Amino acid sequence: MIRIGIDGVTKRFGEVTALDGLSLTIEPGELFFLLGPSGCGKTTLLRTLAGFYAPDAGRVFFGDKDVTGVPAHKRNTGMMFQSYALWPHLTVEKNVAFGLEERRVPRDEIRRRVREALASVHMDGYGGRKPNQLSGGQQQRVALARALVIRPQCLFLDEPLSNLDAKLRLEMRGEIRRICKEFELTAVYVTHDQKEALSISDRLAVLDAGKVLQVGTPWEVYRRPVSETVAHFIGETNFLEGVVLRSGAGMASVHTALGEMQGVCVNGGEEPPSGAEVLVSIRPEGWRLERFRDETNCVPGRIGRTVYLGEVSRHEFVAGEHVLKVFELNPRFSGGSGVELYASVDPEDVVILMRR
Ligand code: ATP
Repeated sequence: MIRIGIDGVTKRFGEVTALDGLSLTIEPGELFFLLGPSGCGKTTLLRTLAGFYAPDAGRVFFGDKDVTGVPAHKRNTGMMFQSYALWPHLTVEKNVAFGLEERRVPRDEIRRRVREALASVHMDGYGGRKPNQLSGGQQQRVALARALVIRPQCLFLDEPLSNLDAKLRLEMRGEIRRICKEFELTAVYVTHDQKEALSISDRLAVLDAGKVLQVGTPWEVYRRPVSETVAHFIGETNFLEGVVLRSGAGMASVHTALGEMQGVCVNGGEEPPSGAEVLVSIRPEGWRLERFRDETNCVPGRIGRTVYLGEVSRHEFVAGEHVLKVFELNPRFSGGSGVELYASVDPEDVVILMRR
């Protein structure tokens, strides 16, 4: 298992700065995700780690070794892309063996390692087939076996599941995590699918304009976003503008258009002083709908439009001039009734963000 160190990496394409002095450490054996809006630099970073792009500034380390100038084929990394890129004219066995033949591994050992790699992705028995005789999920398993067979020290995955249907994606994401852990790989994974990232990553980084905005566990990034951009990008949220009334012990009370709201200060625990302008972020699922008023963080209103999805309803909750997004699990209330209700939220589920 190796640690991947990225130290002040800048990569430009003409006028565009795709990576802007980016630094990040990926711990040995970690399944690490890169998330961020389109064009933020995820793929460029992955390709720089794999050695397909040389950075204009900064360095990349695998363990203690500076690999910045090492070409891709000498980095001993496995890659898995969105397009399976299996050779259509070769059998599954030959596809998986390819990297080993290139490395001139003895024939017997190739046979053994291909067998092991196919078994590890549950594809034993398929060695003689051609890629077009396999389902999309099976092709992805073969692509994974091909990446693993060379015994890479790290694995880079770029949208590996985006060509699969929803059910297969779910199944394969679990598989990818199992295999990364079984092979003790340090893995870096690029995706647009936040659920994929939240469900299987050890940690993730949110990038924007070639810079890291936040690094943390899924819990930290989702529940304790450090900025408006991160809160907005990951999941859904309600923002309220406010002014701090008092703060202490990592909490603050904020005056907002919907009354006083108490919440948790993020920004590394730094508390905004009274009078500071802040932004309050509350996830739709943080709200509880009740017929009776709560003591704290309680907003009177009524349900507007509702989308009923069985296990959950996605309500618009109309509070004066504000419309809040409120998700109700095991829904009891429906829209259009005009009944006066109260939406309340625990201070623990309210994030106070400094305005920058
Ligand atoms: P997406 O989520 O859309 O795949 P991304 O986060 O992976 O995006 P990159 O592909 O890394 O983003 O691109 C970062 C920026 O660099 C973008 O502005 C992109 O247009 C630019 N870029 C990437 N590759 C090249 C290239 N080969 N030539 C010129 N510009 C490029």
